[in-house]
Amino acid sequence: MKKIIIIKYGEMTTKKDNIGLFLRTLKDNIAKKLAKEEVLISYDSGRMFIETTEDHYQKVLEKLQKIFGIHEIVIGYELNSIDIEDLKEALKEVIEPISFHTFKIETKRSNKKIALKSPEISKILGGVVLKNKENVKVDVHHPEIVIHAEIRLEKSYLYFETIKGIGGYPVGTLGKGILMLSGGIDSPVAGYLAMKRGVKIEAIYFESPPHTSEKAKNKVESLARILASYNNDIKLHIVKFTDIQEAIYKNIPHEYLITIMRRMMYRISALIAKNNNCKIIVNGESIGQVASQTLTSMNAINRVVNLPVIRPLACFDKLEIIDLAKKIGSFETSILPYEDCCTIFVPDHPVINPNISKCEEYEQLIPYEDLIYQAIKTHEIIHITENDKNYQDIL
Ligand code: ATP
Ligand code: MG
Repeated sequence: MKKIIIIKYGEMTTKKDNIGLFLRTLKDNIAKKLAKEEVLISYDSGRMFIETTEDHYQKVLEKLQKIFGIHEIVIGYELNSIDIEDLKEALKEVIEPISFHTFKIETKRSNKKIALKSPEISKILGGVVLKNKENVKVDVHHPEIVIHAEIRLEKSYLYFETIKGIGGYPVGTLGKGILMLSGGIDSPVAGYLAMKRGVKIEAIYFESPPHTSEKAKNKVESLARILASYNNDIKLHIVKFTDIQEAIYKNIPHEYLITIMRRMMYRISALIAKNNNCKIIVNGESIGQVASQTLTSMNAINRVVNLPVIRPLACFDKLEIIDLAKKIGSFETSILPYEDCCTIFVPDHPVINPNISKCEEYEQLIPYEDLIYQAIKTHEIIHITENDKNYQDIL
């Protein structure tokens, strides 16, 4: 009998036609995340199995809890047998060190060649527990532990300990999107949620040096690194937005500064998305949060692109977003005080209901196509992986 980690896929198994792609991607993602551990990964259409040594065990469990597509992580025992007598012996050994008062046995028999039916196996195994543990009884409704027995083609498994995974689809199975990543609280959470649906993320950050500092940029890199720890190496596009922002500031009525600025951001994001095979734009907008996120504003801004813009946080309250930011580990970095390019040029009275014809008219006052071309041509690309140098140290 050997200790083994079993991965349950959950929702993924409903994707019948794509199951091959889903499983291969999940296996590759797990292998990448566990590259530094000593592991052996195998899988079939129902389960993935990970063998590791005792000293890597905890680390492996921790890392598995950051991989999308994993719904349940099971700490189990594998037997090279499907014989009931062997199973009984193994069960004796497995329950020996644990203490409990009530239990139930759940049997899953995917090998239909076995003569005994699942309830019969449960009954036999229940008998083993009752005989070998003192003061225990069966409780089918509220047991302290559920002992699972699974009999597969050539092997069987016993387990009673499970850890909830983060769920979702394996990153990469749904293609790529570009995340507008600012230094705020919202956009990293939006990126996390898009990744959870299987979308691989590239990120784009607009900086305005010298109005924004190197520290603000490092902060965004740190946020990208936190997102990268969810199994997604991130290509971060850093776009210099200074010339565009100054041209807008000097030439366009200030109530329209933000609207036009965001239309420019969207245009650039869409162009970089197309050049990098990203099918959607993802951002952290939330309905009503600020003047640029009223429905009329969203409409005026969204119009300049023809890619779908996915806003995972559209209907979240700020407090719900903060809770998620804390859960995924981005909150502490997001609240570091460095300025963002949007906050520097904020007008006193931004328009809440921008008029689209006015946007178009004002945009003619600046050579925005040339400015966008320049910004894209000179943009910087940084490849971020979770194990890079930790910028937290220098922030
Ligand atoms: P906060 O958490 O303070 O709201 P935010 O980053 O969400 O921060 P908003 O002004 O609400 O700031 O911006 C809405 C969205 O636009 C962001 O979630 C982000 O996706 C995108 N965005 C804003 N500024 C930038 C930037 N400098 N670079 C890239 N994307 C940006
Ligand atoms: Mg926001």
